[in-house]
Amino acid sequence: MSRRSAAEDLARGLRVTPFVAGRWQPESTQDTFDVVDPVTERPLVTVTEADAATVDKAVVSARDALDDGEWGRMDGAARGQLLLAFAQLIEDRAEDFADLESLDVGKPGIEGRVIDLPQTVATFRHYAGWADKLTGQSIPTPGYQGRRTLSYTVRQPVGVVAAITPWNSPTMIGSWKVAPALAAGCTVVLKPPEDAPLTSLLLAQLAEEAGFPAGVFNVVPGRGATTGNTLVEHPGVDKISFTGSPETGRIVAAAAARNFRPTTLELGGKSPQIVFADADLDAAAAGVALGIFANQGEVCAAGSRILVARTIHDEFVERLVAHAAKIVLGDPFDDGTTMGALINAEQRERVLRYVQTGRDEGARLVTGGGRPERRGYFVEPTLFADASPEMTIAREEIFGPVGTILAFDDDHQAVAIANDSNYALAATLWTTDLSRAHTVAARVRAGAVAVNGWSPLDARLPWGGSKLSGLGRELGWAGIEANTELKTITVIL
Ligand code: ADP
Repeated sequence: MSRRSAAEDLARGLRVTPFVAGRWQPESTQDTFDVVDPVTERPLVTVTEADAATVDKAVVSARDALDDGEWGRMDGAARGQLLLAFAQLIEDRAEDFADLESLDVGKPGIEGRVIDLPQTVATFRHYAGWADKLTGQSIPTPGYQGRRTLSYTVRQPVGVVAAITPWNSPTMIGSWKVAPALAAGCTVVLKPPEDAPLTSLLLAQLAEEAGFPAGVFNVVPGRGATTGNTLVEHPGVDKISFTGSPETGRIVAAAAARNFRPTTLELGGKSPQIVFADADLDAAAAGVALGIFANQGEVCAAGSRILVARTIHDEFVERLVAHAAKIVLGDPFDDGTTMGALINAEQRERVLRYVQTGRDEGARLVTGGGRPERRGYFVEPTLFADASPEMTIAREEIFGPVGTILAFDDDHQAVAIANDSNYALAATLWTTDLSRAHTVAARVRAGAVAVNGWSPLDARLPWGGSKLSGLGRELGWAGIEANTELKTITVIL
């Protein structure tokens, strides 16, 4: 049996109903949606959508698990042990996760195996380590009406966390939300993307196997406008952690604001990759190409604005074009495929519209720009040169394999172009000059700056942006802070 048909069998064998209050909910013929394979354009499975009553049951059971269940009383070290067991179960099924993600998302198998799954497992292990270290402080105060006082803080779980994930890397981004919430002692209702819910359903199966008490981890598959909207509007949700588009982020933030609930929003970017004339050009070309073409460019941190020093501009464009030429578009299950399909027909058309806009506005198409003659939602790796900062393709997030190359004359201008953006998520700098690296890193507005590499992923490193890129930080200690509240206790002695 080929790897693809084994993966399709695996998908068909999954439980595809909501996992709520420790139970798989019954199938429904009313509220269902099809999950389509972006490579074959065929439906893979039909998933039962979580309706309003099911979302309510999930939120109520999550609250009960906190207030009345063993989870609320569980020692941090025991939570850590559960997270470690969960991480191990995920690692044991890493191949299955990677295959399901290739089927669901269209990404080459190698990416799931080398990036998404190891990062997911590492994230659960990282947060397992925090679970028993959530300490407060004791704070000396001068006393109260002549009596001595003891004041201290305790760090408590923020409560029921609604986690809403996007389709580009649902497993890994899901782990960024679920792992810190569980480590902090919260309970979670995860709403996976309707285009790619399969790995989140497998995650629910493994959470059940790991032995999390009922209600601690719920998965409510469904569409955004229905299940997602019901979840963010639910008054029992204490915190919302969302990754997706700025348009949907705005709806989510407005719903959260009505009840002043904290939110973490990660909404994408138009991240600059700045190549200075003193850069190691071999390394820079390889890194910049990875930065825009990995995961078909469907990456929040995709380095889609490529700023190149004018003195090396032409040579660098040639090098990038050579890298693009080496990319092998194809079925994620074929050996040698280095770029898969986009998530759906709508996304492909959106990307192709941007390509047309780039041509219309006068940028020079130097490679790609079309779709190959084959089934599937593919778009060729595409590069535009001679772009100017005001062009649409230099300003808007395309979320596809389209890089826009702009020339700059000096460091000041490079920083000005980089910061002239509605987004501020990530940036990469390519230079061998230590002083320039630190100086520019300090001046570029972004949540994360990588020098001579592309956004290293690591559960220890805080992640997030500002402006249209969102609000707050995930990962590292920031992930614990985002899922806890400080309580101040003062005892008048
Ligand atoms: P895209 O347009 O690329 O699919 P979205 O930001 O719409 O990105 O989707 C990200 C996640 O947000 C998905 O899980 C989606 O189902 C969910 N979503 C979409 N609309 C809403 C909404 N109104 N309320 C809550 N979640 C939503």
